[in-house]
Amino acid sequence: AASDRGWRVAVVGSGPSGIYAVQALLKRDEVTAVDVFESLPAPYGLLRYGVAPDHAKTKSVARALARAFDDPRVRFFGNVRVGSTITRQELLEHYDAIVYATGARYDRELGIPGEQLTGSVGAADFVAWYSGHPDVGQPADLSGNRSIVIIGAGNVALDVARISLQDRKILEHTDMPREVVAEIASAPLDEVHLLIRRGPAHVKFSRVELAELLTLPDLRVLLHVDPAEFAERDDLSKEAGVNLKLFREALARQAESDAAGEQPSRTLHVHFWTTPERIEGEHRVSAVRVVTRTPEGVTVEGEIPAQAAIRAIGYRGEPIGGLPFDEIACLVPNEAGAVAAPAEVGREFVTGWIKRGPTGVIGTNKGDAAETVDTLADALGRTPGVGGERPDIAELFGDRGITTVDWSQWRRIEEAEQALGDEHGAPTVKLVDREELLDAARQ
Ligand code: NAP
Repeated sequence: AASDRGWRVAVVGSGPSGIYAVQALLKRDEVTAVDVFESLPAPYGLLRYGVAPDHAKTKSVARALARAFDDPRVRFFGNVRVGSTITRQELLEHYDAIVYATGARYDRELGIPGEQLTGSVGAADFVAWYSGHPDVGQPADLSGNRSIVIIGAGNVALDVARISLQDRKILEHTDMPREVVAEIASAPLDEVHLLIRRGPAHVKFSRVELAELLTLPDLRVLLHVDPAEFAERDDLSKEAGVNLKLFREALARQAESDAAGEQPSRTLHVHFWTTPERIEGEHRVSAVRVVTRTPEGVTVEGEIPAQAAIRAIGYRGEPIGGLPFDEIACLVPNEAGAVAAPAEVGREFVTGWIKRGPTGVIGTNKGDAAETVDTLADALGRTPGVGGERPDIAELFGDRGITTVDWSQWRRIEEAEQALGDEHGAPTVKLVDREELLDAARQ
């Protein structure tokens, strides 16, 4: 039962999941206003601060997402952190419903000794740093790194490995902050070790990403496992079959390269059936103790000298003030997107990684958001009095002198980043510092 004012909805978070929710909301005639709140001055969440900088095609999804802000019903409030700049209670006073799309920006922990040493870092932080996230400084000094260990067999582990080994020219053509390019490209890296606790048939890599890593130029690829494990099998999924084929091709290429006497300058070691037991070091990481247990029951212990250990074992979301939170799955428990008590039942919803956990690709969030918005529409449709008079949040920001970034100001940031790109021979180069972003917004 929409009244004259229609439904006013707040979306918290402007990553893909938040913006897909906006798009789904705009399909409903009852929805007359959608305000998007973003804690950073720039939108796009993990698309801007997580998708690898050398994956320009994936990043171009931003252009499609941006169109949501052409709709006059939609406003963007960047630089607003719900929970500190404004409270959840204030949002509830200003909107009929709230959709939280806050994602999962933090790293899970391994829980092994030495994890707190300098040089032991999470991939979420490493990725946020090389993506120019305003709140995440350089997590590890790379200048002495001859060897790094990456733990995990998902696409994030592949991203971290590839960016660490990537050709300088390719990095220079990305939007990475220039000081990050300099830091990564000048690290004296000889070896990257990927620790995978399963066998080759059970990795979670996507084929394109795996192929990309295994075929990087000037790289020796050593696969530490019985080659029989790469044999074709008919009891596997199509994806697993493709990954096995990519490993077989890498073996063949390496054999050819060895026969030709090539001496690549860097080596990628892929250790299957291998888990880290402890990270060694006095103050900073010096080695990772590992144990390899094959399915045949052979156990081998070893130590890999390394100056950094990067765990890419999955992301985790953070609790949202006052909403229920599942500490194990690291998400907000929900029923098709509807958050249960002690939330404001029928008015608070979740979508994306905070709803279902940190899995799936960007597009997965589209159907996920559609489900949440269906649930929202059902709930609001059944609630009398929805769409009544409510104050405009912009007045609250004005009264309190809070600096927000609207969509046209974000466009100015984009222009400033393109200008910086022109200076450096790249399509665009990111501004990192929050004040610099805000200055660009005010130009
Ligand atoms: P993920 O795919 O869930 O991979 C996490 C990896 O960590 C798994 O291999 C897991 O092994 C391993 N792991 C977990 N706990 C561990 C432990 N205690 N010790 C050793 N290994 C452990 O997650 P992700 O790589 O963070 O990626 C998140 C999502 O984003 C995924 O859906 C991914 O596909 C997507 N993504 C996509 C792209 C792309 O399409 N280019 C890029 C980046 C991310 P087990 O398999 O044994 O559990």
